[in-house]
Amino acid sequence: MDVGVLALQGDVSEHRAILSSLGATVVELRSARDVARVDALVLPGGESTAMSVLLRASDLVDPLRERIAAGVPTLGTCAGMILLAEEVLDGRPDQVRLAAVDITVRRNAFGRQVNSFEADLDATALGADGLDTAPIHAVFIRAPGVVRVGPSVEVLATLAPRPGVTAPEPVLLRQGSVVVAAFHPELVGERRVHQLVLGALRQAASA
Ligand code: GLN
Repeated sequence: MDVGVLALQGDVSEHRAILSSLGATVVELRSARDVARVDALVLPGGESTAMSVLLRASDLVDPLRERIAAGVPTLGTCAGMILLAEEVLDGRPDQVRLAAVDITVRRNAFGRQVNSFEADLDATALGADGLDTAPIHAVFIRAPGVVRVGPSVEVLATLAPRPGVTAPEPVLLRQGSVVVAAFHPELVGERRVHQLVLGALRQAASA
């Protein structure tokens, strides 16, 4: 399994470590040629506006769009989730939208860097994919908030209501073979989110 991690900016080495521990061969994506040769894609956390500039400069927007549209299993965490969303609020005008998941996200919805926080998420929904259902320890750093979820999107985990917010907020979602997380599983050695994507890859291979 060759898994490509977009390596223009962001927490690339943390994703590399998790993927390697799951037996994948990691390819750092910097060119269209790299994008063409991998079996799955990971868009890391970092800064989606900076990544947008670098994605255009490296001519990677169309190659990524094409591979994702062709059904290549894809994971986006935090900034990666923003890049994969259908619609972005509080983005920059030149923000890249790969529009792979029918959600609307608001950048920095939980506040600034100092408002970063950690929370344990109920992971019951992961059982349907054969994964352990112990709570997910989730780290949120200038995280996007999901303010709209389209009908074809599955919500796999939510953040429990907190002061001022009454409804549970979706933070781990899936549409087809694309998984997005508002938090950073790669920063705490949480492997199940990556396993969801590698599981989709195995399914595709055996179909
Ligand atoms: N706020 C960042 C952005 O807009 C995302 C933060 C992160 O990936 N930790 O891209």
